[in-house]
Amino acid sequence: MAARVIDGKAVAAAVKERVKVDAAAFAEEFGRAPALATVLVGEDPASQVYIGGKRKASGEVGIRSVHHELDAATRQEDLEGLVGDLNADEEVDGILVQLPLPDHLDSDAVVATIDPAKDVDGLTPVNAGLLAHGTPGLVSCTPAGVMELLAHEGVEVEGAHAVVVGRSKLVGVPVARLLLMGNATVTMCHSRTRDLDAVCAQADILVAAVGVPRLLGKDAVKPGAVVIDVGINRTEDGLVGDVDFDAAAEVASAITPVPGGVGPMTIAMLLHNTLAAGRARMASR
Ligand code: NAD
Repeated sequence: MAARVIDGKAVAAAVKERVKVDAAAFAEEFGRAPALATVLVGEDPASQVYIGGKRKASGEVGIRSVHHELDAATRQEDLEGLVGDLNADEEVDGILVQLPLPDHLDSDAVVATIDPAKDVDGLTPVNAGLLAHGTPGLVSCTPAGVMELLAHEGVEVEGAHAVVVGRSKLVGVPVARLLLMGNATVTMCHSRTRDLDAVCAQADILVAAVGVPRLLGKDAVKPGAVVIDVGINRTEDGLVGDVDFDAAAEVASAITPVPGGVGPMTIAMLLHNTLAAGRARMASR
């Protein structure tokens, strides 16, 4: 294997250490810990694991966790009512509604009710719009984590050709926007892209955010490319990414593993965003 394996756990630990120091300073200055509210609707096992991880990580860095668990049959107006209460709560700095929501609920409408100043997932139309405008507010955690990994690894973004596979609101679009802000030349691929491997093989930086196990193999990776695999796919072999790790690692210069690459960064950036949101709110009072 030629590629350097990018250790997301270690980079995430460094971010969390920084947040811990900031959270202690926040508590000292404002007489209370910064607080992150999490809302879980229903009993989806994967969501329960994700929320559990976020709450545990909050505790580790001195962020107070305010957790609400609602029945799977919760009505839209009741969920939006809870978000309204959290918006109004002066001691809540960040709000995260765990997605996906049960099918009968309109997630976009729920997300749109979150106060953009507390939108630590960066998903409200206001924060997505600010990012599109080039003046980011709170940025989605996974895309922010991808950029943090590239920065930590000393990857030169400026002038690089970055290819992003996937165009979701959650990952693909914001990560492409951040790479463009970093002065990369950005190509976006998606399910209708023709000759995907050939386009990917032009990338100096390849970001995969698709949700198809091992979609991208050796032919999709330019020799020396940096490969960031956002995908998390449950298979019979356990968790795998959107990139065939073994094949890609033979040609890439650096690559993130799954698990242990981008995943830990998402939680670390959530904690970072909670602190940033808390500080910005306290400064604007
Ligand atoms: P999504 O389903 O919303 O979007 C997938 C995108 O991939 C779409 O834009 C689609 O056009 C594109 N796509 C689908 N099939 C394709 C194909 N065959 N060729 C090219 N493009 C194709 O998914 P998402 O929310 O963006 O998540 C993507 C992956 O990242 C998933 O595996 C998800 O679990 C993972 N994820 C990981 C983290 C993390 O913390 N590491 C966070 C969010 C999402």
